[in-house]
Amino acid sequence: MTRCGAPTKAGGRCRKSAMAGTSRCERHQGAWSAYEVAQRKKREARKKKPKRDGRG
Ligand SMILES: [Zn+2]
Repeated sequence: MTRCGAPTKAGGRCRKSAMAGTSRCERHQGAWSAYEVAQRKKREARKKKPKRDGRG
C-alpha cells in the first residue's frame, strides 16, 4: 500500500496509507480537501508571477 506522504502542518509527512485508486489518504484526497486547496493556491500564485513580455 502506498503511503499518503502529503506534507503536514507540523512540517512532516502524512504517514497514513493512501486510499485505493488515489495517492492520498482519506484526509488528503479530494479536489477540495484543505491540502488540495492549498496546493492549488500555490500553483495559481506561481501563474500570476509577472512576466515581462513588453506590455508593461
Ligand atoms: Zn494523508
